[in-house]
Amino acid sequence: MHRVPHPPKLPAIAAAESRSRGGHGVAKARLMAMLLALLAASATNASEIRADEVASVATETTAHPAATGNIIVVGTSQSRADIIREHAEAIRREAFSQLLGETRPKAWLVRCEIHVHTSADAFEKAVGGSPAEARGATSLDFAGDRVVARRIDVMGDGPEIVPDAIDHELVHVVLADHFVHAAPPRWADEGLALLFDTQEKQQGHEANFQDARRRGLVWSAADLLALEDYPADGPRQKIFYGQSAALVRWLIARRDAATFIRFLDDAAQVGMEAALDRHYGITSLASVSSAWKEVAPINTLGLSERRR
Ligand SMILES: [Zn+2]
Repeated sequence: MHRVPHPPKLPAIAAAESRSRGGHGVAKARLMAMLLALLAASATNASEIRADEVASVATETTAHPAATGNIIVVGTSQSRADIIREHAEAIRREAFSQLLGETRPKAWLVRCEIHVHTSADAFEKAVGGSPAEARGATSLDFAGDRVVARRIDVMGDGPEIVPDAIDHELVHVVLADHFVHAAPPRWADEGLALLFDTQEKQQGHEANFQDARRRGLVWSAADLLALEDYPADGPRQKIFYGQSAALVRWLIARRDAATFIRFLDDAAQVGMEAALDRHYGITSLASVSSAWKEVAPINTLGLSERRR
């Protein structure tokens, strides 16, 4: 279950208020101090202070008064949360660098909340879907050209300290910074996130896909590229993940991740077929079906070798 809604969704203020938890007195005091500082600065050089900067400060301090960094982890012990947060910060940097070519990504003024759940009930209550289908979910809200809420829910009931779904979900959140005006196509969003799953998980998706291919259950290239939402039933979702991953790996292997992102940007402007031709020299959607026959290796970006 991945809730990555198409923007725009909730207005900034409503999102910030809905995420506030405790410490309002402290938050308001800090907010007033920062606003006063901004106003003082604007008195000397008004042109340098924009209204949206004031709004960013308000969103940040109201929602998360005590946080530092780009990520907040809740739902588990402080010591475990610290390890998860550190891991998540590293994956965030890696995703920005590998997928968006940003080696020094801007800080998230609206921090990403990672909610760790230790029971299926708690996960289902928060997400609305069973962890048996997916052990992570991402929720994003947008206002204009800004992301105003970032939230990841993961199951954290296994023996490992860092929940297994975090890397994948963080990719969705990082991509949202680039695709702020319109979500990337589902197959591309998922295929990119799947690159950050463990090798074992990726091999499982690949096996699901190959099995479905042998049985003639996969989508045509035209249908997959046009899919606007996730397939409703679990078995179809598994095929969708495997097929999307195979296509993304195949396209990235033809050029690189930067070209793939530019292709997606262009596809939103000029259409999928024109963008495929421009960036990959693919002149018909039917040719994309080669991706299923020449499956690119799992470790396309060299990511699954890294240690957790
Ligand atoms: Zn996903």
